[in-house]
Amino acid sequence: MRDGEQTPGVALTREKKLLIARALDDMGISVIEAGSAITSAGERESIKAVANEGLNAEICSYCRIVKRDIDYALECDVDSIHLVVPVSDLHIRTKIKKDRDAVRQIAIGVTEYAKDHGLVVELSGEDASRADLGFLKALYEDGMDAGAERLCFCDTVGLLVPERTTEIFQDFSSSLKAPLSIHCHNDFGLATANTVAALAAGAKQAHVTVNGLGERAGNASMEEVVMSLEWLYKYNTGIKHEMIYRTSRLVSRLTGVSVSPNKALVGGNAFTHEAGIHVHGLIADKSTYEPMNPEYIGRQRQIVLGKHAGRSSITLALKEMGLEADEVQTEEIFNRVKQLGDQGKHITDADLQTIAEIVLDIYREPLIKLEEFTIVSGNKVTPTASIKLKVNNNIIVEAGIGNGPVDAVINSIRKAVSSCAEDIILEEYHVDSITGGTDALVEVRVKLSKNGKMITASGARTDIIMASVEAVMNGMNRLINI
Ligand code: MN
Repeated sequence: MRDGEQTPGVALTREKKLLIARALDDMGISVIEAGSAITSAGERESIKAVANEGLNAEICSYCRIVKRDIDYALECDVDSIHLVVPVSDLHIRTKIKKDRDAVRQIAIGVTEYAKDHGLVVELSGEDASRADLGFLKALYEDGMDAGAERLCFCDTVGLLVPERTTEIFQDFSSSLKAPLSIHCHNDFGLATANTVAALAAGAKQAHVTVNGLGERAGNASMEEVVMSLEWLYKYNTGIKHEMIYRTSRLVSRLTGVSVSPNKALVGGNAFTHEAGIHVHGLIADKSTYEPMNPEYIGRQRQIVLGKHAGRSSITLALKEMGLEADEVQTEEIFNRVKQLGDQGKHITDADLQTIAEIVLDIYREPLIKLEEFTIVSGNKVTPTASIKLKVNNNIIVEAGIGNGPVDAVINSIRKAVSSCAEDIILEEYHVDSITGGTDALVEVRVKLSKNGKMITASGARTDIIMASVEAVMNGMNRLINI
C-alpha cells in the first residue's frame, strides 16, 4: 500500500487502506507496508488505523534515512520500518549530495535510532542494481551490526535480469547472515521473473503489489509471484490462493486502476475462451488449453459466444452453467444464438441462459422485476431516480442519486435489491450503438460479480437508461440464481 499507492493518480483514503489491509491479512500476507509516515497527517492517520486493526501481519512504514521519518513512523504505532538508503552513486550524488561514506554513517545512525525505539528494521538498498556491490555489502554488514533484522535489494528502475539476480542472491545469501528481501520493478516486464529468481537463489522475502501496481510500469505482482511459486515451483507459500482474484478485484475497484484484459491470472481474459478449436479441446479435457484450474485462485472460466460460436462452445457454456441439453435442444439453442449474433448482438451469459432455459423448458420467473421508474435530470439538478421493483413478490420503492441519470437509476436499483443481493458489484459498463442516428438501438453490456463469480449481461433499447436498467436487472437475476 506504499509502492502500489505510488501508481500515478492513486490515493487511498483511510477506509480504503483498511479494506485492503484486511484482505491482505486474510490471505496470509506477512508484512504490510501501510504507507510512508512522513507523507502527511492523513497518511499517518491511515497507517495508524491499519497498525491498530489487530491484524496478524507485521505493519510497516516506509522511511528515508532521516530521524524525523522514524519519529513519524513511531507516531503511527507500526511494528517495523522499510528504511531506504540510496546506494548507487547516481542516487547518492543527486539525492543526498554527499559521498558513500557519509550515506553509510547516516544509515547506521538512523538504524540505531530506530532500534533504540523498538522498531524492526528492514534496511533497503535503493537502486541497488546500479550500485557498487562491494559498497552495498559493506553497508548491509554495518546495518546488521547496528541491529537491522532484514536486508532488501531494490531494483528501483527495473534493470535486473534473472541470471544476474541469481548470481547476486547466491552470493549475498551465502555471505550475509540476515534474511534478504527482493524488491523489483517491471520496467522491462521482468519483475516477476527476477523476483522468483531471487527467491530461488536464497531470498527469504519478496516485495510485491496487488495487480502489479506501482510507479511507471509497476512492481512485481503479488498474484504472479505467488502463483509462479505455487503452481510452477510447487512451493507452498502459505498464501490463501483462492482469495487472489477477489483481492485483485477489490484493489482494482478501490484504486480505480483497471486490470488489463490480458494480464496474467487476474486479467478479464485469462480464463476466457472463444469459439473454435480451443473450446472443442476444452470439452474433452479442461487442461488442453488451460494452464491451471481457475478455481485455484477463486475464479471461473468463461466461454464467450460471438457469431463464430460453434456447437461445441455452446455445449461447454451450458455445462459451465450446470445445464444439460440433448442434441435437438442444443441445435435449437445454437440456431437462436446465431440469430442474435447475426443481428450484431453480443451474446452474454445471461442471453444464453435465457435462451437455454426457454428451450429446455426450465424457465424461471425472474426474482427481481421492474414495475416502474422515474428520472429527473438536467443542468441544475442532481440526477435523481426513483424506482419500484418487485423483489420476491414484495414491492420495494427506493430512490438514488448519481453523477448522471444512468448512475442514479443503477444506484436506486442497488439500494432496492440490497436485501437479496447486497454483495453484487457492477464491475464494468459498456455502451454500443448498434445502428446510427439519435434514434439508434443502444446496447448496454454490464459485467457484474458476486463473491468472485463474474457474469455478463446486456440490454438493448433505443433508450439508454432503459437499456442500462434491463442489463443490470438481467445480470442480477442471473447472479442471484447461481
Ligand atoms: Mn519501489
